[in-house]
Amino acid sequence: MNDNPSALAPVIVLGGGLASISFAGGLRSAGFQGGITVVADEHESAYDRPPLSKDFLRDGDAEKIRLDLSHAPGVEWLRGVAAQRVDTQAHEVHLADGRCLHYGTLVFATGASPRVLPALQGAPMPVLTLRTLGDAQRIRSGLQPGARLLVIGGGVIGLELAATARALGVEVTLVEFLPRLMSRGASATLASFVARHHAEQGVDLRFGRSVTGFSRSHIVLDDGSQIAADLVVVGIGVTANDALAHAADIACDDGIFVDGRGRTTCPNVYAIGDVTRQRNPVSGRFERIETWSNAQNQGMAVARAMLDPAAPPYGDLPWYWSEQYALRIQVAGLTNGDDEIVRGDIAAGDQFTLIHLLRGQIVGASCVNNVRDFTALKRIITSGARPDRAALADPDTDLRKLIARTSSQAA
Ligand code: FAD
Ligand code: NDP
Repeated sequence: MNDNPSALAPVIVLGGGLASISFAGGLRSAGFQGGITVVADEHESAYDRPPLSKDFLRDGDAEKIRLDLSHAPGVEWLRGVAAQRVDTQAHEVHLADGRCLHYGTLVFATGASPRVLPALQGAPMPVLTLRTLGDAQRIRSGLQPGARLLVIGGGVIGLELAATARALGVEVTLVEFLPRLMSRGASATLASFVARHHAEQGVDLRFGRSVTGFSRSHIVLDDGSQIAADLVVVGIGVTANDALAHAADIACDDGIFVDGRGRTTCPNVYAIGDVTRQRNPVSGRFERIETWSNAQNQGMAVARAMLDPAAPPYGDLPWYWSEQYALRIQVAGLTNGDDEIVRGDIAAGDQFTLIHLLRGQIVGASCVNNVRDFTALKRIITSGARPDRAALADPDTDLRKLIARTSSQAA
């Protein structure tokens, strides 16, 4: 254990999202009794973001998505106020309302913000992004049956929104700049399955196109075509909220660089969650890992590491899930290998698994409605095991038994 945990105090956390709460809860459950203050620019009591593109758009129930703060008792919450400047020499954080807080330990958990499309500034219809509860409430009010929704961006936000909107009887057109969907986090095989599914559900997909402007009730694309829309939602990725860290000379590049203990390049300053740029344990590259599981687990791991120098560094296998119609998609590791094993019949139904390989090594997995495969494959990727290819490809093989067999052979 840290010889003098009280020297960490006071702990100031910037941002009140999942990473922040997991971190504060992690400190408390490891026995830290010092002061913890969370500075959160949103007025809302903390909430979970994944339902914002899924259930919340259907039921509008904000109370169902509140995060449980009881795991982080005795935390002082300053809501509705942004941190404006950090002075790492004086160990101070200056807030937008003029207050100045002294810190022993500072943690950036400031997340990320949606990219916007300047070409749509001044458009006659609402042009929104989806990140906050307020965004989701505004979008929800436009999702009336028969309304015309234009989604810009074929990533996870755009696709989940398109699926939910179709279920609500909304007409949906989706414009994607690239010739395929989910370019950042899915293999070409999964992306084309997802595209086919959306097309079957009535989404008008326009690939290889971008938006150049608007007319009175239409959005104009780069090929001159016009799309009538009552509501436009832009889902073209996010940028890290790292401006304060950058201004304080902490190393950043669209994300604050951290090591496996959450340490930045400045002593006593840490970062967690979407705002970080960390080493991806599978690719070996420094990347932003913008997933719910990373926000939760990195937050807790950094808290443990702060209190216990012997705690292992964080290095969880990156993974995410996405829900679109009746598809539960789960993806772990890397999806851009040089080989892919297919378990199941993609053309025949909506349950299959893809195993991604790079130079013969299993580096990733994508499962559609195959939760059991997913759990086993995460273990296989992490262990570095190389099970028999034919056995992996056979959908009747129980992957959990295969792991047990492969480990006993290796022993
Ligand atoms: P955030 O949740 O962004 O929290 C950061 C907070 O810091 C924000 O409230 C921000 O306003 C605040 N802040 C920023 N600057 C300041 C400042 N200067 N002062 C004070 N406060 C500040 N992941 C999955 O794996 N599966 C999913 O299905 C999934 N669905 C998603 C659906 C939606 C609509 C969205 C938006 C995200 C989804 N994600 C999903 C991603 C996941 O929710 C995020 O990775 C996770 O919420 C990141 O948590 P965080 O705490 O790092 O950042
Ligand atoms: P993504 O980066 O996943 O996808 C954005 C897509 O939009 C990319 O394919 C991108 O292509 C494309 N694009 C970029 N610019 C344009 C343009 N001008 N016109 C048309 N298409 C364009 O981001 P999202 O916005 O979908 O998601 C935002 C955040 O929310 C992420 O952090 C994500 O992890 C999180 N999230 C996660 C979910 C999940 O895991 N299930 C669900 C919802 C959100 P290119 O690659 O060329 O830039």
